[in-house]
Amino acid sequence: MLAKEFQNQYTYYDKDVETCSREALLDLQLDKLKKLLAHVWDSHGFYANKWKAAGLSNVKDIAGIGDFKKLPLTKKSEYVQDQAENPPYGTNLTYDIENYVRFHQTSGTTGKPLKWLDTTESWDNWARCWCFVYGGAGVTAADRIFFPFSFGPFVGFWSAFEGARKLGALAFPGGGQDTVTRINFILENKPTVICSTPSYALRLAEAALEMGIDLSKSSVQKTIHAGEPGASIPATKKKIETLWGAKCYDHHGMTETGAMSFTCNAGPQGVHLNESEFYFEILDPETGLDVPDGQEGELVVTNLGRWGMPVIRYRTGDKVKVNRNRCDCGRSFMRMEGGILGRVDDMLIVRGVNVFPSAIENIIRAYDQVSEFKVEVYKDKEMDELNLLLEIDQNVHSQEEIAKLIRTVKEDLKANLQIRVDIGHVPAGTLPRFEMKAKRVIRVEQPTKL
Ligand SMILES: [Zn+2]
Repeated sequence: MLAKEFQNQYTYYDKDVETCSREALLDLQLDKLKKLLAHVWDSHGFYANKWKAAGLSNVKDIAGIGDFKKLPLTKKSEYVQDQAENPPYGTNLTYDIENYVRFHQTSGTTGKPLKWLDTTESWDNWARCWCFVYGGAGVTAADRIFFPFSFGPFVGFWSAFEGARKLGALAFPGGGQDTVTRINFILENKPTVICSTPSYALRLAEAALEMGIDLSKSSVQKTIHAGEPGASIPATKKKIETLWGAKCYDHHGMTETGAMSFTCNAGPQGVHLNESEFYFEILDPETGLDVPDGQEGELVVTNLGRWGMPVIRYRTGDKVKVNRNRCDCGRSFMRMEGGILGRVDDMLIVRGVNVFPSAIENIIRAYDQVSEFKVEVYKDKEMDELNLLLEIDQNVHSQEEIAKLIRTVKEDLKANLQIRVDIGHVPAGTLPRFEMKAKRVIRVEQPTKL
């Protein structure tokens, strides 16, 4: 049960577009797509060269989605290579450099950061995309939004901050503050909404409890998350909602694409993809062909309104499963069932069993006594094995209780995921907490045996 009263009515940012028929939506997308392609074809280095190399002489001839699908897919490594060969920003620039007003870069967790520039119009489109996120969560101009986040070159919540301005809501930047300062800031300024990674929302609530402060009684009514899949993992979502006494919403985006998805008030219906501002395809990562709805495939995206540095048929590497039936909230935007299911390349194979890290997280987060965890992946006779480290709450004291907890988690993982995992435990407060993208699954040479 949530501690506060919530209105569960369905809310929108651009209701006409969000609830129109699928046919009308496709017409709208096609219209935007043609304008984007014509524009890019005339003025662009990166894609024009790529399409010419693929034997496509005139993109203006593209009449429908069938033609569009003849364009080659784009991978992140192509942008990385392009920026390395044409430093610093590469050739994916539609305009001369003086037209750009914003610089951001990727978080760099998987290599050298990719740099991304926006024009005034592109940056405004980013903000518009965030307004859909706010609209789904029922956030309005009357809300006060706190961003407990280190604002730096990583795009992170910069666009959400800009979206708050576009919406007319009061926004508080939480950069340059430590966790204790942020908790006191919440008590003093009484925000109604928090935007953070799911891990950091847990961390803030946990740190507040250590200070004797119960954030479920604070002014915060809604939490909006990004950066990790946690808010779509039922056990993590439940934990955040309980600790904050607030309703938890998910969203996902990428530096290269913009804010692509959001959740609504219709319960666990999945995460809506913003089909007003993007064209999405769900493709088989091996063949590049469309995957039927309800089956897992890779999310491939084209942003329709960010012309300054567009992504066209961009392979996100995110594994999703979609449903195009109208949602209970009235939206016709398709939904990713269960949110982002994992990365196409992060699936673990443990003794022949396919397992996504998010599935492990969903099981572990159901145990309140476990405050943090880490999964070590290591090779044993060329096979991936898992070693799980649990940080157990300081209220669990006896060795007997700890042993029982470990046994139960082990049996739970075996029963639900068909995997056998070694489990050790570490004292409270020893595993890292994350403000940005959490890295709880790491590959190691030797597991930590405790
Ligand atoms: Zn919905």
